[in-house]
Amino acid sequence: MKAITVIGGGVTGLAAAYFIQQSVPGASISLVESSERLGGKLLTNRIGNAVAEAGPDSIVARNSVITGLCSDLGLEQNIIRPKTSKSYLWTRNRLRPIPEGVFGGYPSHGLLPLWRTHVLSFQGIARTAMDLVLPRTEVAEDISIGKLAESRFGREFKTTLVDPLIGGLMSCNSSYLSARELMPGVFSLAKNSRSILRASRARASVAQSMPFFSFKGGVAELTDKLNAATGNVQKKTGVEVRELSRREGRWHITGEGLEIESDAVIACLPAHSAAPVLKSEAALSSALAEIPYTSVANVVFGYGPADFKPPVEGSGFLVPEKEGLLMTGCTWLSSKWSSAESEDLYLVRCFVGTPDSVSWMDLGDEELAAELHRELGAIVKINGKPLQFIVTRWQNALPRYGVGHMELVAKIHSLCPPGLFMAGAAFSGVGISSCVADAKRAVDSAAAYCSAGS
Ligand SMILES: Cc1cc2nc3c(=O)[nH]c(=O)nc-3n(C[C@H](O)[C@H](O)[C@H](O)COP(=O)(O)OP(=O)(O)OC[C@H]3O[C@@H](n4cnc5c(N)ncnc54)[C@H](O)[C@@H]3O)c2cc1C
Repeated sequence: MKAITVIGGGVTGLAAAYFIQQSVPGASISLVESSERLGGKLLTNRIGNAVAEAGPDSIVARNSVITGLCSDLGLEQNIIRPKTSKSYLWTRNRLRPIPEGVFGGYPSHGLLPLWRTHVLSFQGIARTAMDLVLPRTEVAEDISIGKLAESRFGREFKTTLVDPLIGGLMSCNSSYLSARELMPGVFSLAKNSRSILRASRARASVAQSMPFFSFKGGVAELTDKLNAATGNVQKKTGVEVRELSRREGRWHITGEGLEIESDAVIACLPAHSAAPVLKSEAALSSALAEIPYTSVANVVFGYGPADFKPPVEGSGFLVPEKEGLLMTGCTWLSSKWSSAESEDLYLVRCFVGTPDSVSWMDLGDEELAAELHRELGAIVKINGKPLQFIVTRWQNALPRYGVGHMELVAKIHSLCPPGLFMAGAAFSGVGISSCVADAKRAVDSAAAYCSAGS
């Protein structure tokens, strides 16, 4: 009987344990998680009866692995979708609708939506249009999203739209992010054509719309169901793995009061946590340590229902870094999700955190909440103080997919000794659906390894 250990009990680790149960029947499966709670970044709180997510609030149906998993777990009937898809930018002292077709990081619906929404100045739009006549941008093997956007459409387009829309998703200025990795469609347009606007006209749509969803009880329904469906897995929570080493063809997993021997290991850890655990594999450990991370925080406020009303219909707004606010974005939770509606409270969530902004880290919870409430009050009319709030801080939470990330990930996978497999947000996409698909990929490799060795 093969022994397989999963390290890390976030959504990647729980999905990996679930997939092993299916594809390696009879295997002895263990899962070790350092905190007392399973689920990792999926953390659904409640204020009153309303769902107040502390981590992710939606899943993107990006691949068939996530949709198949939800269906296998019987979660389909609990799926809810956002009540509105409209959102805004706080720019030049006003909330302005995000122009149609810019979510892919370029104006895929042409220039008209930019005119209509007034998110850019006249000069900004004129500069965007220059993409049509400028010489080709040299993109070589990769280029940062910010550099590509700025060279084609100008600085105003980059700082007003690309930084908050693309960088905002990753809590990161777009100048740090890889275009090839995160916007492959636009990258290929830039690589193969002189003008992105002109080339995109010839293609139906590079920026595909992605259906977002959650569950009636919040996103943690996914990890709760995975936990319940992995009854055969021996789970150890509150135990930190300190060392992972290979001796005589087997893996030794040790920590305080922990000693497991395994034929294969699937490490579903943030790269900065995996690096020290794998110190016996020096080259692998230092490659893992090269992946940079951003810390973020958010505050969910519960206002009296008469005290807070969004000024426009929509799910919230993003704030470009150049506006100089602490807040990077705000979700009007009670307007976005039916699960966050309540008779007694209106829920709002404000976000902070980019790689270059650390000023919020020195603020205590009360101070952070007070500052965000103050900034929010300058944008939206609020009649009273919040009745309740929850502050959540996520240290080194989001991996940064910098230029050359793909090569670094390929190197990490190639440095893994036989029987060790890596999966999670650092490798094939930060979103939940990418993590789940990565868990499936790692399990398929582990299953092949185990059957070859048996
Ligand atoms: C505020 C926020 C909002 C987000 N919003 C969205 C969104 O709306 N949609 C979306 O798709 N994604 C979103 N994401 C990203 C997504 O939530 C994460 O990328 C994903 O949940 C990562 O899952 P994981 O299992 O790979 O890692 P984690 O959830 O980080 O799990 C890793 C686990 O490993 C454990 N661990 C660490 N070290 C050890 C050790 N030595 N021994 C044992 N266990 C260890 C940790 O305790 C943790 O439980 C968001 C992330 C954040 C922080």
